[in-house]
Amino acid sequence: EAIAVDEAVLAGLPAGNLNEAESKAIFARFGMPVTREHVAADADAAAAAAHAFGGEVVLKILSRAIAHKSDLGGVRVGLTAEQVPDACATMLETLRAAGAPTPEGFLVQERIRGGIEMILGFHRDPQLGPVILLGAGGVAAELFQDTALRVLPITRADAEAMVGELKAARLLRGWRGGAPADIAALIDAVMAFATMAGAAGERLLEAEINPLFVLPEGAGVRAVDGLVVLR
Ligand code: ADP
Ligand code: MG
Repeated sequence: EAIAVDEAVLAGLPAGNLNEAESKAIFARFGMPVTREHVAADADAAAAAAHAFGGEVVLKILSRAIAHKSDLGGVRVGLTAEQVPDACATMLETLRAAGAPTPEGFLVQERIRGGIEMILGFHRDPQLGPVILLGAGGVAAELFQDTALRVLPITRADAEAMVGELKAARLLRGWRGGAPADIAALIDAVMAFATMAGAAGERLLEAEINPLFVLPEGAGVRAVDGLVVLR
C-alpha cells in the first residue's frame, strides 16, 4: 500500500545517479512493488545472501556510476549460490578492465519469471514540463516506438488510457492463448510512479523503471531495475 511521503524521501541522497537499490527503495516508499533483494558489500556477503534466498538468484553490480549494468557484464540472471563468488570476481575484473570506479557492492535479488516487460519513465521536458512515459520493454521497445506520454499530474483514467493506446495492450490482454497480464496492477504502478514524481519535489530530475515485469492476472507487477537522477 502506498504511504504518504514527500521530498523528505530524498533527504541525505547525493545529486547525480542513484544506484539500483537506492532508486527502488524510493519507488517502494510510494507503493511500487519491487524485487526482494539484498545489498552485499563483497563476494562473501553476496554468496551468503544467495544461500539465504535459496534457489536461483540474480546477481548485479551495484554502482551509482553504471546506469547500464549489462553493458559492463554487470547482470547475471539465474545463478546458484555456488556460482555467485566466481561471478562477483568476473564482474569486478570486467569493471577494472573498463576503468570503471570501484562499485558500492553487489545486489542479490529474486529472479522474476513469466512477466511482460514494460518501461516507466519520468523526466522534465523543457517544453512540456514534468512528463511520464509508459512503454513496451525488452526487444519490443527497440523494434517499435511503442510508448504513451502524459504531462503530470494524471488521473487514473489517464493511466488506463495510456495502457490502452500501446500496441503492447494486445499482449497484456492475452495474446494468442497467453495468460492475460495484471493490467489493474500495471495501472496502480503507473499511478504510484506519477504520485512519486509529483511528491518527491524539484530535486527529482529523472526516474526510470526498465523493466517493470507485469505478471499474470492476480500476481501483480515487479520493478526489476530502477534509476533515479537527482539534482
Ligand atoms: P541494466 O542496467 O543493464 O538495464 P537490468 O537490471 O535491467 O540491467 O537487467 C538487465 C535485464 O536482465 C533486464 O532487462 C531483465 O530482462 C533481466 N533481469 C534483471 N533482473 C531480473 C530479475 N530479478 N528477474 C528476471 N530477470 C531480470
Ligand atoms: Mg534495466
